[in-house]
Amino acid sequence: MLRKFKISTRFLRAYADLIEFPDGDEIVVQYVGVGNVIELVKSIGIETFLLGLAEYIEDDFRRWNAFEKTPRLASHSKTGVIELMPTSDGEHYGFKYVNGHPKNPNVGLQTVTAFGVLSDVSTGYPCLVSEMTIMTGLRTAATSALAAKYLARPDARSMAIIGLGAQSEFQALAFRALLGIKRLQVFDIDIEAADKFLKNLADMDFDIVVAKTAEEAVAGADIITTVTADKRNATILSDNMVGAGVHINAVGGDCPGKTELQGDILRRADVFVEYPEQTRIEGEIQQMAPDFPVIELWRVIAGEAEGRRLGSQITIFDSVGFATEDFSALRFLRDRIQGTAFYTELDLTTQPEHPRDLYGLFKQPAAAVIAERSVA
Ligand code: NAD
Repeated sequence: MLRKFKISTRFLRAYADLIEFPDGDEIVVQYVGVGNVIELVKSIGIETFLLGLAEYIEDDFRRWNAFEKTPRLASHSKTGVIELMPTSDGEHYGFKYVNGHPKNPNVGLQTVTAFGVLSDVSTGYPCLVSEMTIMTGLRTAATSALAAKYLARPDARSMAIIGLGAQSEFQALAFRALLGIKRLQVFDIDIEAADKFLKNLADMDFDIVVAKTAEEAVAGADIITTVTADKRNATILSDNMVGAGVHINAVGGDCPGKTELQGDILRRADVFVEYPEQTRIEGEIQQMAPDFPVIELWRVIAGEAEGRRLGSQITIFDSVGFATEDFSALRFLRDRIQGTAFYTELDLTTQPEHPRDLYGLFKQPAAAVIAERSVA
């Protein structure tokens, strides 16, 4: 029979004192499930949540040099990719497990699913485990809108969105929260995706036009978001579709052999990236020479590099999603759940009577184990 156990906080606190952990609370592993995230976001309001999350992401980009960084570890298959995304700021360590399987929706599954962990570096103990499928939608959109805040024309009022899948509503909401964009010109090859998008954002005071083609969607738009999923080098935007002054938020091209923009657009634009070592493998710039010039987004945010210089300039955020953004999301989540009911405690770490007597746990009578880890 499957049983759920919950660690007794009183027992753990007493134990933390005994073995001199810096903070007894660190031993409690908080778990934020899908339902918890949904209710937490609803309680705060999604746009307020996105604004708060964007602030954490911005803060972490500002202290970029504090982070340990590496391109994510990817395991590719014919149908998709499974990736691990680790980073640390010396105080906390975090990682996300995430997949990308574009054909999953054909069998009723999502393209992207994820979970994440945040640990205390001083003890190595995990302190937070969270769902990160919804959090990925939120953090990707918050990062996109944050980049656009620095790179789009200040007078930008409209955005085209090509690809109306799982990420799309989050993108729309983040751009309104951070940039005040209300006019959306949208397109998807699947008409049901457009219907879903309209239904989800009905009564939310957007001005939405569903276009018949991608060309029609981008006509006159100040910002273009591409967020399609297809494991191939697709041409979602061709050079003739992109006019002067546009900011492109290229989100969908995020693994080798998967791009959305025609190379000529990249040559006409200034390209901004998260972590060049990862983006050169996975982003739009995988199409270009290894020394193709790019500007790191963190430098713009930290005031070390220029973002948009001219109204006529084409800027591209070649988004692939970087580990620090998930780390920021986990930090934000952890801070938001304290003192709320939006988490449970997870029976994840062993607490033997003596730290080296792990086997001794088998010698405890079942009643003692159950008393210490009360059945939920
Ligand atoms: P999804 O499968 O839910 O949605 C993709 C949508 O794109 C579908 O509605 C599909 O019909 C549409 N589409 C496919 N080809 C198209 C075309 N040629 N023109 C117009 N529409 C087209 O996927 P999702 O979860 O929304 O993710 C979208 C993409 O974003 C994926 O490639 C994913 O890997 C990527 N992603 C990137 C980041 C990042 O940080 N950069 C984060 C999350 C997801």
